[in-house]
Amino acid sequence: MSKTAERYDHFVDGESVASTGDERIDVVYPYDGEVWASVPAGTTADVDRAVETARAAAAEWRETSPSERRATLYGIADALDDHAEELGELETRQNGKLLREMAGQTDALGEWYRYYGSLVETARGDTVPVENKDGGLFNYVDHEPYGVVGAITPWNSPLMLTTWKLAPALAAGNAFVHKPSEQTPVSALRFAAILRDETDLPDGVYNVVTGAGETGAALAEHDGVDKLAFTGSTATGRAVGAAAGRALNPVSLELGGKSPNVILPSADLDNAINGVVKGIFAATGQTCLAGSRVLVHEAVHDEFVERFTERARSVTLGDPMAPETEMGPVAFREQWETVREYVEAGDAEGATVAYGGEQPDGTPGECFVQPTVLVDVDNGMQVAREEIFGPVASVIEVEDETDAVETANDTDYGLAAGVWTEDMRQAHRVADALEAGTVWVNEYRTLSHRSPFGGFGDSGLGRENGAEALDEYRQTKSVWIDLDGEVDDPFTLG
Ligand code: ADP
Repeated sequence: MSKTAERYDHFVDGESVASTGDERIDVVYPYDGEVWASVPAGTTADVDRAVETARAAAAEWRETSPSERRATLYGIADALDDHAEELGELETRQNGKLLREMAGQTDALGEWYRYYGSLVETARGDTVPVENKDGGLFNYVDHEPYGVVGAITPWNSPLMLTTWKLAPALAAGNAFVHKPSEQTPVSALRFAAILRDETDLPDGVYNVVTGAGETGAALAEHDGVDKLAFTGSTATGRAVGAAAGRALNPVSLELGGKSPNVILPSADLDNAINGVVKGIFAATGQTCLAGSRVLVHEAVHDEFVERFTERARSVTLGDPMAPETEMGPVAFREQWETVREYVEAGDAEGATVAYGGEQPDGTPGECFVQPTVLVDVDNGMQVAREEIFGPVASVIEVEDETDAVETANDTDYGLAAGVWTEDMRQAHRVADALEAGTVWVNEYRTLSHRSPFGGFGDSGLGRENGAEALDEYRQTKSVWIDLDGEVDDPFTLG
C-alpha cells in the first residue's frame, strides 16, 4: 500500500465508525495497480450496529410528510450536482472505467432523487368500490414503507446502482443499510458524508458497512432487515434471494445477462456497428446489459464481421481519465483472467478469434484487454451462454428473422436486447417476440430514471427505475370501514 493510502471506516448514524474487527480491504486503481485506500471488512457485529441504527431512524423517517421527503430528496439531488465531478473521479479511481462514463453517471444521479421526490409528493392512494354489504363499507388502499432496506451493490456502476435503490427507498419512507462492493466502497462513504454535511437527511437513514461477500451475506441474513435489494451476479443473486426466502422478505434482484443484439438485413449497417460497439466495448463490456451476443442475419454477416472487426481494431485504449480514451482496463486482475479463460474456451469449442483477446503492448498495469471479436460462434457454446463481463463480442450467424428471435430467446437470461432494422413492422414484431426486460430498436444502452429496468428469467426479479420501482419499496394496505355500525351474520364471509 502506498504511504498516502487513505484509511476509511464504516459510516453509521452520520459518523465514521471503526469496525469491531481488524481485517481491512485495499482499494486499487485498476489503471496502474496503485493501492490508494483501505476500508474495513465489516463483521457481523458491524452489520448489527448499522441495522439497529437504521431501524431507529426508519421509525422517524416514515413519519415525515411526502413534502418533507420531496424537499430532502431535492436537496440530495442538488448536493449530487455540486459533487458530480468529484464523485465521478472517485468512481474511476475505484473501477478504472472511463471518467467520461463515470462522471456522466454521477452528473445524472440528481434526476433520480428529483423524480422519486416528485413521485412521492404527487402519489395518491385509491378508494375501492365495495358493495358486499347493505348500509355500506368504505375501502381504501394505501402504501407504507417496509422499514429497513438492506442493499448490496456491485463495482461496475457503484453510485448509479445505489441510487436506483436508494432514491425510491427513501421516497417511500425506508431507512437503508448499504454494503457496497469491496472493489468500490469509497464513493459510497464519500456520498454518505456529503448527505450528512450538505442535506437534511436525518442521520441513520443512510448507513454504509463496507466489506466483501461475507459482510453482504450477514446483511442479507439479518433479521432486522425488511427488504433486500441487490445488483450483481446471478450466482450471488440466488444466495441473496434464498436468504430473503428464508426470512420471507421481499427482494429485488438485478442480475446478469447475455443480451442479444440482432442485426437484420434492412439495418443501417454503420449505425448498427456503432450500436454493437456501444453495447459491448463501451465500459469495457462491464455492464450487466452488455450486448454480448451479436446475432447477424446471413445476408449481412460477412460484411458486418469485416467492418466490425476493423472498428474493434481502431478502439483507443488507455488512461481512463483522458478524454480521448475509448476503452479502459477491466476492473481487476481476476476479471482479466476470466476474460482470457473465456476466449480460450471459445477457441477450444470452435469459435475463431477475429480480433483481440490479449493485453495490448504499451498499456500499463495488468488489466487491459483488447476489444475482442469471436466469430463462428454457435449459440450452444460457453461464450454464448455465460456472462463474461468483459469486452468480448460473440458473433452468431442467423438464417432469418425467426431464427434470430429463437436464438435470441434461447438463453437463461433476459435482461436486454437490441434489434437493428429500418423496417418498422419488423421492429415491432421482433421487439414483441424478444424475451427481455428492455428492448432497444436502432439504439443500445439508453436508460432513464423514468423507464423501468429489470430482467426476465435468470436476469432478476422486480424492476428498478420508473414508477414501478417505488412499489418495490412500499407495501400495500387495504383498510375497510363499516358505515352502518352493525356486524352482519358472524358466520358468513362478506
Ligand atoms: P460481481 O462482483 O461479479 O458483480 P457479486 O455478485 O459477487 O458479483 O458481487 C456483487 C455484490 O455482492 C458485492 O457487493 C459483493 O461483495 C456481494 N456479495 C458477494 N457474495 C455475497 C453473498 N454470498 N451474499 C451477499 N452478498 C455477496
